[in-house]
Parts: sequence; C-alpha cells; structure tokens
Amino acid sequence: VLSARDVTKDFGHAQVLKGVSLDVHAGEVMCIIGPSGSGKSTFLRCINHLEDIDGGSLTVFGDLVGYKRKGDRLYEESERETAVKRERIGMVFQQFNLFPHLTVLENVMIGPVEVKGTPKSQARETALTLLERVGLRDRADAYPVQLSGGQQQRVAIARTLAMQPDLILFDEPTSALDPEMVSEVLSVIRDLADDGMTMVIVTHEMGFAREVADTVVFMADGNIVESGTPDEVMGHPREERTKQFIQEIR
Ligand code: ATP
Ligand code: MG
Repeated sequence: VLSARDVTKDFGHAQVLKGVSLDVHAGEVMCIIGPSGSGKSTFLRCINHLEDIDGGSLTVFGDLVGYKRKGDRLYEESERETAVKRERIGMVFQQFNLFPHLTVLENVMIGPVEVKGTPKSQARETALTLLERVGLRDRADAYPVQLSGGQQQRVAIARTLAMQPDLILFDEPTSALDPEMVSEVLSVIRDLADDGMTMVIVTHEMGFAREVADTVVFMADGNIVESGTPDEVMGHPREERTKQFIQEIR
C-alpha cells in the first residue's frame, strides 16, 4: 500500500526527514511514536502530498507520489490528479476541522456529494450508517459546537470513512481531547483495525499502540530509530534512544 525509501524533507536549512524508509501492507496498522519535532506529522503530510519530498521515493498504491506513469515515462501530476489520488487516503487530525455551519449529518455527507457526485439520498443513508458505527446516530442533526471533543472527533472519523478510503492517516487523534474522551475515540479506531482497515497512526497513547499496532515505528530527529512489533519496540527496545523515550512517556 505504502512504501517509503530514503525519504528526505528540508525546510530551509533544516532537514526534518533524514532518510525515512518503511513499508505498510494492506490491512496493517502502523503506529508512529517519537518526541516532538521528530518529523512524524511532516512524514504523514508527505504521504498525501501536502508536502513535496526532497529526496528518496514515496510510493502509495503502486504510484510514485507526485508523478504519473505513461508507458515507461514519468510525468509530474497535475493538482487535479493529486486530488484524485488523495481521495483514497483519509486523514484525521488532532483538530477535528468540522464545518461549524453544517450539521453532523451534513458534515459526513458533504465529501461524497461534493467530491464524488454521490446522490444525496445515498450519501445520507451511508452517513447515517457510519454515524451509527461511531455511536452518534442520535446526534445527526446537532451542530459541531453542541458536541464534546470526543464526539466531534468521532464525527471527523465518520466523515473520513464516508469517502471510502483505502488508507487512513491519523495525526495524534486524541491529543486535543480531555482524558475522559480519549477512550471513546480510541475504541472507534480499534474497531476499524479489527475490520482490517490499513492505518498509519501517530500517537502518544502507548497502551493503545501496544494493543492495536502490527508495527511500531519509533522516530527521533528525522530518522527511524527502530521499528518492529509492539513487543519488540516498546517491550524490549534495543536502542538507548527508544528506551529513554518509552521511560519518559510512561
Ligand atoms: P509533534 O509531536 O510536536 O507533533 P512532529 O514529530 O509531528 O512533532 P513535525 O511537525 O513533523 O514534528 O516537525 C518536524 C520539524 O519540522 C520541526 O522542527 C518543525 O519545526 C519543522 N517544521 C514543520 N513544518 C514546517 C514548516 N512548514 N516550515 C518550517 N519548518 C517546519
Ligand atoms: Mg506532529
């Protein structure tokens, strides 16, 4: 599904990604952990081409990000083509970014209707099913401001699912939430994992990562320091830097 080879990214003189290589396979859940500023968000943004990479290669669903293939030649893709590719990749942020003037139901419907041209009646039915799935069907007519942070984030996840992505990127989906709302959001993500959704999740929730991840990647300072199963990376870290981080965050 996703393959990164020696990906580098510079902001001015600062190299923020220093050669990141990893693979994500269909149905895999990868959790990326690491200290602030290590490049986790930047890496996610490169995957759906919100940032250009400066070196290495990044392949998503068999296509190089930012390029299209014609025969055996590569061409830079247009904005339109980027947008089409992006439809297969969902992204859930720390801030939920719901449309405040739309109801919960309308927030979940708008992507399929506006972007994919799905008929409203069909989009509405799908949206209600998804809201049921995240436990919010009874709040379909509420406005975002009337919901708790945890509920808003669950709507944001339903909105992402409405686009039927083949890969979902989560960037610290619970960091902006009050502690008592974290578990309701994690449990929705856990259900997606059980359903076989392919996901890359940047998180500071160590217990959650340990439980749902197939692979844990520890990033520091623009590099992957180590990666492996949760038990390998979090239970028996080999690198001093990883040990330190795991101890600090406990
Ligand atoms: P956090 O855990 O705090 O979210 P992170 O691992 O997600 O951190 P990034 O947000 O990827 O880290 O940032 C990595 C580095 O890149 C930081 O030093 C940051 O200041 C820098 N950076 C990120 N975006 C930009 C930008 N648009 N312009 C310049 N520097 C940037
Ligand atoms: Mg970040």
